[in-house]
Amino acid sequence: MLKEVRCNLCGEDNFKVVYKTYSGAIDKADVVKDYKITEHSAKTLTRVVRCKKCGLIYTNPRPHVRSLVSNYVNMVDNEYVEEERGRRISAAATIRSLKKLRKKGRLLDIGCAAGFLLDEARKDGWEVHGIELSKWAVDFAKKKFGISTIFNGVLKNAGYPDNYFDAVVMKDSIEHLTDPKGTLIEIRRILKSDGILCINTPDIDSLVSRILKARWWGIKQSHLYYFTRKTLKKMLEVSGFVAIKVKSSPRTFSVKYWLSRFKGYSGVLHKTFSFFTGRKIFKDSLLTVNLGDQVEFYARKARRLRYLEELEKMPYAAKKKNLKVVAVLPAYNAAKTLKRTVADIPKECIDEIILVDDASKDNTVQAARSLGLKVFSHTVNKGYGANQKTCYLKALEAGADIVVMVHPDYQYDPKVIPQMIKPIREGKADAVFGSRMMKGGALEGGMPAWKHNANVMLTAIENIIFRTFLTEYHSGFRAYSRGLLKNVKFLRNSDGFIFDTEIIAQILLHNFKIEEIPIRTRYFDEASTIGLLPSILYGLGILKTLFKYMLHTMTPFKFKQFS
Ligand SMILES: [Zn+2]
Repeated sequence: MLKEVRCNLCGEDNFKVVYKTYSGAIDKADVVKDYKITEHSAKTLTRVVRCKKCGLIYTNPRPHVRSLVSNYVNMVDNEYVEEERGRRISAAATIRSLKKLRKKGRLLDIGCAAGFLLDEARKDGWEVHGIELSKWAVDFAKKKFGISTIFNGVLKNAGYPDNYFDAVVMKDSIEHLTDPKGTLIEIRRILKSDGILCINTPDIDSLVSRILKARWWGIKQSHLYYFTRKTLKKMLEVSGFVAIKVKSSPRTFSVKYWLSRFKGYSGVLHKTFSFFTGRKIFKDSLLTVNLGDQVEFYARKARRLRYLEELEKMPYAAKKKNLKVVAVLPAYNAAKTLKRTVADIPKECIDEIILVDDASKDNTVQAARSLGLKVFSHTVNKGYGANQKTCYLKALEAGADIVVMVHPDYQYDPKVIPQMIKPIREGKADAVFGSRMMKGGALEGGMPAWKHNANVMLTAIENIIFRTFLTEYHSGFRAYSRGLLKNVKFLRNSDGFIFDTEIIAQILLHNFKIEEIPIRTRYFDEASTIGLLPSILYGLGILKTLFKYMLHTMTPFKFKQFS
């Protein structure tokens, strides 16, 4: 019936008992059957423990997921909806705070119950969506408020697309989840890169909780986690969020409800509130009280990539079996090297090869056609960036899940394509760059020293501004996921070589993950090379992009290209 669990935050199985509200053996404890949101604490049987490693406080052992879920699915709670007025006031306060951080947009309320918050948000101009297990609550919201966008189930089954919501709200729900960390990681996926997450939950570190101990109303069998500001902040961090605002939040209920809550508590609290009992007139009045034991967090997605180790273990990662891989060849005067390049492309991992010819002066097009490639041509020479734009558009049109760019000038060795697409295939990265700078590959391959040094210097500057670490930014050997290409506005980028730097800025701003693999390059006479002057102009173009990136991230000045 009950099951022992490990710490959800750090994975340790080493804890200290904080409260135990029953005597005798753990397995003798009864599990609450008819769960209600308004369930009172008095009869709660539970053991609350604190992880010795990270400090997370959680219920251990706890009922099996199936019995928890069936409790919620079958829940009917009329007392909950009787307090509609007060609950709306609390909900409206949350919406007001949210609005200061995000004007409006698409909002998801996880554990939306009867839909009071959704109705308040809708009045405020939000497009509202909800997640709720209780069939009764979903019906209530639908019948009473006409809200039909509530998914009756758990978040991971709702199937929302990536970067879909402007705001996600979890009010009094994170403490009920079996896997809060997994849920936060899933929220990170569906939240837009500049979206806001709001979490409201009891604070076990509060004064009231410390005074009342196990009798505090926050202690319930249905609460599987008891956060402090510190542990919630940590859990947000490991799931890829940054807390931007934390406050304690008041609750509003009718006097009658407050009284019923304090029933059974002796001492000052009960006496204070029972003062109202004899006065019928107050019974239906609303009373807003801030006991400081309910905390409200506002967070945004972290731009740093260190949390991604966690993401790699993502349980909800939708994995498509047969991913279509398209190799794109941005070509200009590549007739001489094309055949050798195509011959080295491992055909077993590529579904289609597309060549875009940027008005070559030689017979690149004929050579490509004779090799059986799908060919598109620019009528005038537009530049390397413009060529990539056509490449990616054509690959997306062809239904590519992974697009790998191979230069047809034979400078890069296409034999490493399987290694390049592997991290994307496994859902570990959205972009993979072949790096000439890992393990000194470029110099071995014969890159001129001045070029090598300039590259190293620009890379250092880029690492500082982008606050990320890549060994090189200027590789022409790259693979991208479909999701990445669909989300970043690459069509707004330069038609020249700066395209490659601009797309990195866009990737980072959208929180996509870049992985690097070492590659070797060959420099030989037939290979396309850039002279000194164009190289300097290229360097200046990169600096301009970095400057725009700084303006975009540090000032109110925004570029559509990066949005
Ligand atoms: Zn722990």
